[in-house]
Amino acid sequence: MTAMLMKPEISVVIPIYNEQAGLAALFARLYPALDKLGASYEIVFVNDGSRDNSVSILAEQFRQRPDVTRVVLFNGNYGQHMAILAGFEASRGEIMITLDADLQNPPEEIGNLVAKMREGYDYVGSIRRKRQDSAWRTYASKAMNSLRERITNIKITDQGNMLRAYGRNVVDLMNQCAEVNTFVPALAYRFARKPTEITVEHEERSAGESKYSLYSLIRLNFDLVTGFSLVPLQFYSMMGMLMSLLSGLLVLVLLVRRLFLGAEAEGVFTLFAITFFFMGVILFGIGLLGEYVGRIFQQVRARPRYVVQTILQQKPGESVDMPPPGVEKRTVGRGHD
Ligand code: UDP
Ligand code: MG
Repeated sequence: MTAMLMKPEISVVIPIYNEQAGLAALFARLYPALDKLGASYEIVFVNDGSRDNSVSILAEQFRQRPDVTRVVLFNGNYGQHMAILAGFEASRGEIMITLDADLQNPPEEIGNLVAKMREGYDYVGSIRRKRQDSAWRTYASKAMNSLRERITNIKITDQGNMLRAYGRNVVDLMNQCAEVNTFVPALAYRFARKPTEITVEHEERSAGESKYSLYSLIRLNFDLVTGFSLVPLQFYSMMGMLMSLLSGLLVLVLLVRRLFLGAEAEGVFTLFAITFFFMGVILFGIGLLGEYVGRIFQQVRARPRYVVQTILQQKPGESVDMPPPGVEKRTVGRGHD
């Protein structure tokens, strides 16, 4: 049993943030689905600073199945993607699967992802057959998806879906990155040699509420675009060029007009309109620059991206009925330095 934990074929990484209401249902489907595969596996739960009872439920589950369960506990809330990255650092499998805790991604699909990985792909994304989210979420994410694909050249058909599989080679490279705000599937896509996608089922959230507000969704999309591409800045300087060309033309026209028709006093409001438009463009440009400067700021500050308080895991050689938890030293996830 312990050998199983040492180097399993499959590692399943699940970020948990205030999911107490749905965890029991998750365990009830996840473990049987994995047992049925007949492959060695481990499940790494990463508690992202939940303020509810999730931690004690996870600890209890660790006590039930210490052979295949590990629990990484953060000391605060660092976000879903940091939680997944910490899970990657703690896991040892050859095939890494990520999954949401709310059962929107059916655990029974893991087998299909694994089968695809065994065909020799090192990244298997997934497309939700029928999305069970509100209409505006579906629409907004489709629109963002196609814009992002054009800007970053990362081909992820369904970016809002975390049920994905990554090969060890891809995860090792991700573990070397020290990016502060990142988006795991996109980062992985950059490193994948042979990516593919499959279609999966999607269900409604089993319990609890979505952890994403409209604001955090917009933030996430900024991370996705400014974190992976300089195209917005380049586009902006092209636009600046075009606009200064146009305003130069306007000056010329007004000059000629003045010479031949005399001074003009009308059209003040047109001038206002043009000025305000330019001001809007300038403000947007400053904001956009700020996005990149902010990223540089976070990066040079080089604070730990997350702090792992404890990892509940069975020590090698420890028997199953030894009193857990094994407490590891405090570690910080800081990429490679
Ligand atoms: N999550 C997390 N940290 C956060 C927000 C979310 O670990 O700050 C986890 C959450 O517990 C869930 C997954 O990320 O397992 C996806 O969150 P959610 O289902 O709320 O997102 P949605 O499905 O609405 O996009
Ligand atoms: Mg969800």
